[in-house]
Amino acid sequence: MVARCADGSEYEGAALIGADGLRSRVRELVIGDGPPRPAGHVTYRGVVPFDQVKDQSHFDDMVIWIGPNLHFVQYRLRGGTVMNNVATVVSRKFARGERESYGGPDELMEAFSRTTPQVREMLSYVGTDKNWALHDRDPVPGWTRGKVTLLGDAAHPTLQYLAQGACMAIEDAVVLSKTLAAAGNGEINAALTAYEKERYLRAIRVPITARIFGEILHCDGGARDLRNHLLAQRTPENFWEVDWLYRGIEA
Ligand SMILES: Cc1cc2nc3c(=O)[nH]c(=O)nc-3n(C[C@H](O)[C@H](O)[C@H](O)COP(=O)(O)OP(=O)(O)OC[C@H]3O[C@@H](n4cnc5c(N)ncnc54)[C@H](O)[C@@H]3O)c2cc1C
Repeated sequence: MVARCADGSEYEGAALIGADGLRSRVRELVIGDGPPRPAGHVTYRGVVPFDQVKDQSHFDDMVIWIGPNLHFVQYRLRGGTVMNNVATVVSRKFARGERESYGGPDELMEAFSRTTPQVREMLSYVGTDKNWALHDRDPVPGWTRGKVTLLGDAAHPTLQYLAQGACMAIEDAVVLSKTLAAAGNGEINAALTAYEKERYLRAIRVPITARIFGEILHCDGGARDLRNHLLAQRTPENFWEVDWLYRGIEA
């Protein structure tokens, strides 16, 4: 098998693994299901030295502030010396059909204008010069054709609400290396098919669960009241919704 690149270079190998991300060119060839699905959600990020954080009382653990059409995640990195701040809004412009120019800092500020002074203060830790318009795809089978397969976001792009997209890519690599190692000479096709089969249900469950987590974070009205009622009944040790996720790499 020979892969020819746009710059004219050629690479010969036994198989082609398309690990080329959300807008995968290899996926176009293998599945051809068009561009990814825009969620209409936009994320802003910023990392600040922890000693610049004014109110440090919450941050022994990850903190998620949630509200209608927004959430804000904060956690410490690099041995606690810096804090990562990730703010996400559900774009009203996108919902109105303004698909070309949605999710600017105006929408971020507008959504967070209804949050508490404490949260608004911490929003200043987020940069507004760059944002991420979030996308995923409806999960489908068929990432493998002959000696070509997909891995990571190319196969199953996932909203970050479970923080699992990169983890899934790593899990894919572990399973693929296992099926390839178990394959004999000339059994590449079977190894790639076995890889997809082993990953398939989890690669559906994680993206769909991530969407649901986004709905839970961003909801308003009666859904918000129900969410708050159910969360209030939980104990800190109760992780049943995500036990399956962290227990192993099966669905
Ligand atoms: C705001 C945000 C927050 C996130 N937070 C988390 C998190 O907390 N935890 C988590 O696990 N995941 C998170 N993710 C998801 C994670 O970033 C992705 O799932 C992960 O990067 C996917 O890895 P990948 O290797 O499949 O694709 P990518 O990281 O996109 O890598 C694909 C690579 O292929 C290259 N490429 C693309 N096209 C071509 C081409 N035609 N030729 C040659 N090279 C090409 C690209 O340059 C790139 O280097 C987050 C995503 C976003 C947007």
